[in-house]
Amino acid sequence: MRRIAVVGAGQAGLVLALGLRKHGYAVTVVTDRDAETIRAGGLISNQCVFHPALTRERALGINFWDGRAPEILGASFGLAGDGPEPAVSWQARFDHPAQSVDQRVKVSAWLTAFAEAGGEVRLAKVTPDGLDEYAREFDLVLVAAGRGPRFDSLFPRDDARCPYREPRRTIGITYLVSGSDEPLPVYPGLTFGLSPAGELFGLPILSVRGPVFGLGFFGVPGGPLDVWDDVTDPDEHFDTAMTVLREQFPWVAGSLAGARPSGPLDVLRGRVLPIVRQPVGTLPSGAKVLAMGDAAVTNDPVAGQGANMAAHAAAVYERRILDHGDRPFDEAFLHGTFAEYWEKAQYATRLSNDLLAPPPDHVLATLTAAQTVPEVAHRFARIFENPADYAAWLTDERIARDYLASKGA
Ligand SMILES: Cc1cc2nc3c(=O)[nH]c(=O)nc-3n(C[C@H](O)[C@H](O)[C@H](O)COP(=O)(O)OP(=O)(O)OC[C@H]3O[C@@H](n4cnc5c(N)ncnc54)[C@H](O)[C@@H]3O)c2cc1C
Repeated sequence: MRRIAVVGAGQAGLVLALGLRKHGYAVTVVTDRDAETIRAGGLISNQCVFHPALTRERALGINFWDGRAPEILGASFGLAGDGPEPAVSWQARFDHPAQSVDQRVKVSAWLTAFAEAGGEVRLAKVTPDGLDEYAREFDLVLVAAGRGPRFDSLFPRDDARCPYREPRRTIGITYLVSGSDEPLPVYPGLTFGLSPAGELFGLPILSVRGPVFGLGFFGVPGGPLDVWDDVTDPDEHFDTAMTVLREQFPWVAGSLAGARPSGPLDVLRGRVLPIVRQPVGTLPSGAKVLAMGDAAVTNDPVAGQGANMAAHAAAVYERRILDHGDRPFDEAFLHGTFAEYWEKAQYATRLSNDLLAPPPDHVLATLTAAQTVPEVAHRFARIFENPADYAAWLTDERIARDYLASKGA
């Protein structure tokens, strides 16, 4: 029987591990945090997961929160103008609802389910050098240990695929609940605000504390949304969030006027360096290991793509492993597996990176047209679920303008 080690128990590693267990593989997940620690810990993500990734979770039978997690039905867009009302605004429904289940809930439940399904869980903080121990024991070692520089030496930056050398947004997320018996009158979907200072993303989430509203700001460094560095406690975070909300996205402020923080651990501040790495690492012994999820490709979370692409990686890697049968997992297999993942993941990276730059005129024209042409709004809302369409449409000014003309906009 093939023996496979997955380092890291997040959206990428666990979905793959659970999928391979279903097919009878002997899978070991090595993780630095057990399920209880994850669940009791601080905020990890905003994790809006769209229909394709949800479909995969449903196929694996690990969609434990259907019917309990609030449905994310569409997108509500607002472009900041000079006054309290947005200069441009529209709403559009998705074809299928998205969902955001707090990763503390999701990942801890999946880790438990994996152990119950006969998977082995080892608690260890793995280092690049320590991977050789696993390479000796297992037929295949996958590194799904998330973003950050820990495995820089093993998976260096792929310069040709990385436009940025520094983080492009400062991020501040807080989870909110209603301060009264009345639910918050928020849009039942993605609230997306765009201003020269950066972006706002808000969404209903099923959190460790039940239903909450996740309010996230993505600020251009040095601008009016770059306010999180000196914030030290959750109350200060909440006050800061409400202040920048009123200043930058005033049309959203009314629906959150009755909000209060959901809990002291439900805040997150920081920056994410978008990076695409060389995915195949060589260990001191010469053995090869393959990166997946954020460990291979980290996008700025502004476009909500990371967890979705982690789920996609799990699906591609699983199928490739199954198709490979008993043959050795050689370098060609590892490179081929990442290449197949990247065929689709490249579009999510392109969308995420492009959102970090000021929108070109034809994108602003499209957002404006969406206000009067529902079909344009619907197509735009769907690019988060299907970034390949973004790449085929809005990265080319002529195609974008021809499309608007064809819609009479
Ligand atoms: C603020 C924010 C908002 C986001 N919003 C969205 C969104 O709306 N939609 C979306 O799709 N994505 C979103 N993302 C991105 C998404 O959370 C990540 O892309 C996704 O979680 C990546 O999954 P992963 O399994 O690769 O890594 P992770 O989820 O980071 O999991 C890595 C795992 O590895 C373990 N680990 C780390 N180091 C070691 C080690 N040395 N040894 C052993 N184990 C280790 C960790 O404990 C963890 O369990 C957001 C991210 C942030 C920060």
